[in-house]
This record gives sequence, structure tokens and C-alpha cells, in this order.
Amino acid sequence: MGTVVARTCVACGAEPEDPAALWCPSCGPEGTLDLSYDLEAAGAALRRDLLDPATPLDSWRFRALLPVADEGPRPPLRVGPTPLLLVPAERAPAGLQRLWVKDEGRNPTASFKDRATQVAVASALERGVPGLLCASTGNAATSLAGFCAASGLRAVILVPASAPRPKLAQLLCYGAELIPVAGTYDDAFDLSLAAAPQLGLDLRSTGVNPILGEGKKTAALELMEQLGWEPPEAISVSVGDGCIISGLYKGLADLYGAGMIPRIPRLIGVQAAGSDALTQAWERGDDAPTAISAKTRADSISVDLPRDGRKALRAVRESKGCFVRVPDEDLLKAQLTLARCSGVFSEPSGAASLAGILALVERGELDPAAPVVALTTGSGLKDTDSALEAGGGVPPAIEPSLDALLARLQQQTRG
Ligand SMILES: *Cc1c(COP(=O)(O)O)cnc(C)c1O
Ligand SMILES: [Zn+2]
Repeated sequence: MGTVVARTCVACGAEPEDPAALWCPSCGPEGTLDLSYDLEAAGAALRRDLLDPATPLDSWRFRALLPVADEGPRPPLRVGPTPLLLVPAERAPAGLQRLWVKDEGRNPTASFKDRATQVAVASALERGVPGLLCASTGNAATSLAGFCAASGLRAVILVPASAPRPKLAQLLCYGAELIPVAGTYDDAFDLSLAAAPQLGLDLRSTGVNPILGEGKKTAALELMEQLGWEPPEAISVSVGDGCIISGLYKGLADLYGAGMIPRIPRLIGVQAAGSDALTQAWERGDDAPTAISAKTRADSISVDLPRDGRKALRAVRESKGCFVRVPDEDLLKAQLTLARCSGVFSEPSGAASLAGILALVERGELDPAAPVVALTTGSGLKDTDSALEAGGGVPPAIEPSLDALLARLQQQTRG
């Protein structure tokens, strides 16, 4: 088990005395905590576990760097390894020679959020907590609902207004307690902070609970193992609240500290142009974001005030990466490009990672010959309306005759 040796506030550097505190008491929820381990001991344990042929091929193989017990109870849904695909250079866009796609839509509930949920649920099971609560519009809620269903835990979900219907459908089938809140996502979020302790439930609202970033970092650990511990030039991922990108950075920093990788690759944070609070803060050189009024159809990255903003900005700064904003139409285009060059079907927020890479190559800020990884964070089945629009809609039916078929095929080849 990863023994946490310190919990440090990202804003002021203080170490809260209460071991159960989720955030820094002086800074409030903006003062999210960093968990640190004895990296020398963790590195030795990790090398042992990874070499042991009896170690199952899921995220718990990295338990030496996770805040869970060695043999504690685990949720039955298993996470990882997700596929890492090399797009053949002749089919890759923008002359990319070594474009890797890591398909996080292949997790148990079809999004990256399962990485955080598995650790949060394992911790709740270990500590005998009866359930978890979160505010979310989509994938985090769905993920929590699925893992709680599988583990016999209570899942209470505060939703603001409109999530894509496939995500709501998934949620309802898992049987979570779904509570619509008349207000914004931010209203639901603030309510969740007060409600979880009151109800005796763990908090799974993104960012604030440091255990979530620890779960998200398993993608970086797994990726580096899949690449034979050889860091790529850059890793690109879409950013909303900033928990994924800061989790990735934490994983890479832990591996670097444990002597498992020789350097930390550049992290590229991709935001929708209409939801770019962190890109704006990064351009200003600020340590923390300020709230904007977000508007994008990439619902998973539509965020007014990024809740893990400080860690996300630090991740990009310290990895010598960058933030990049991409208009919605380019997100939908990237969804098609991705599906057609790699066979990976991703929701627009997931394809943003590729859209960001393409924007940087076009601006001459990324060498197309360098190895780069696009993390696709959610399945295309999560938002079928966007997928239908990106794909150009279904063409009209033909008569069931060979002539009509041949005529249509000819017409489509010409068009
Ligand atoms: C949650 C989510 C993101 C963004 O993650 P943050 O931690 O909020 O930055 C990106 N893509 C998908 C599909 C998501 O569900
Ligand atoms: Zn603080």
C-alpha cells in the first residue's frame, strides 16, 4: 500500500492537522491537497509488483502509489489497461509520424472518470462508509452510479440541468439516487460540499477530494508501462475542471521521483474555446483561474470555475507544456478524424485531445515527427446527438434494388 507521508495544500503549502480533512482549512476548497508518498519505498514495491506474474493486469498493480490498503476490498468493476493504439503514419492526420491514442472510453462505464471512482469506492469500502455523493452533469455521476451499483453502496447524485440523454439513461439504469437541483452546476457543486458530511457519505465531486486525482494518475502509470517507461514528447488531454491533467502530472511526477522514468513529458491541456478559464489564466501567467461563463457543446469540459484549477496550471507549467483552445466545430471535426484514422469512437470532449495536437502542429509548436499521445476520455456513445451531427447525418434510404445501390455508391464516391 502507498503510505501517504504528507498532505500539502496546493495554494499555501500548509499541512492540515486533521487527517480526514479534504482541503486546507485556511484556503477552503480552492486549497486542494497533494498526497505524497515515500517514493523510494513505493518505487521498490512497484518494481516488485509489476514483475510478479501473479499480479493482475488492472489498476491495483500500482497500489504502491495509491492511498488504499494492499489487500483491501475492491469494487468488482476492474479498470485498465485501456488500449494504446499507434495510428499508422500513412493514415495519421497532419503528417503525424507517431500518434498514439489511449482509449479511455473503454473503461467499465465508458469514461476516464472510472479511474478516480475506483479508488474513491475502494476507500469507502475499506473504511465502511455506506456510500458516496457527487455533483456532476455526466460522466462522473454515471461512473459513481455504476461502481456503487456493483459494490452495493449508496450513490447520491446532484445534477443541475441538461446532460446528454445517453449519460442520464446510463445513470438511471444503474439505480443511483438522482436529485435534480434548480440551479447551475456550481450551485449543485457547493451543495455537495455541505451535503456529503451531513449525510455521512464520501464526496466524489471532482477535484476537491485528493483521492480522485490519485485515481486519475493510474492512466499515466499505465501509459508509461505500455510505452516501456520511455516518455513521449507530449501527452494531450481535454481539460474542464483540471482534475485529469493534474492527476496525470501527479502520476508522472511520482514515477520520476521513484526513478521509473527519466523525464516528465509535456502536458497539453485542451479546452473548448467557449470554456477556456484555464487557458486564460495560463496566458495571464496566473496560479489560479477566475470564473467565466462557459458555453460549449462539449458538455464534459463545460466549466465556469475549474475546481482543480491550481493543480492543472501547475501541471502544465512544470511539465513545460501549454494550454490550447479549440472551437467547437474543430472538436466535431476531430471526432471524425480520430474515428477514421484509428477506429476509436470518442465523444467531442475526448477528441479534443487530438484537436489540440492538430492546432499545435499547424502553429509550428509541435514537431509532427515526435511521439505524442492523445488521451480520449469518453466513448462516442455518450453523446449520440453530437456524433450524428459530426458524421453528417444519416442519408435517405434507397429502393432495395441493385441498380439503386450502385447508383448511390457512385454518387457518394463522386460527392
Ligand atoms: C470529466 C471529463 C473531462 C475533463 O476532466 P477534468 O478533470 O474536469 O478536467 C474530459 N473529457 C471527458 C469525457 C470527461 O468526462
Ligand atoms: Zn492552504
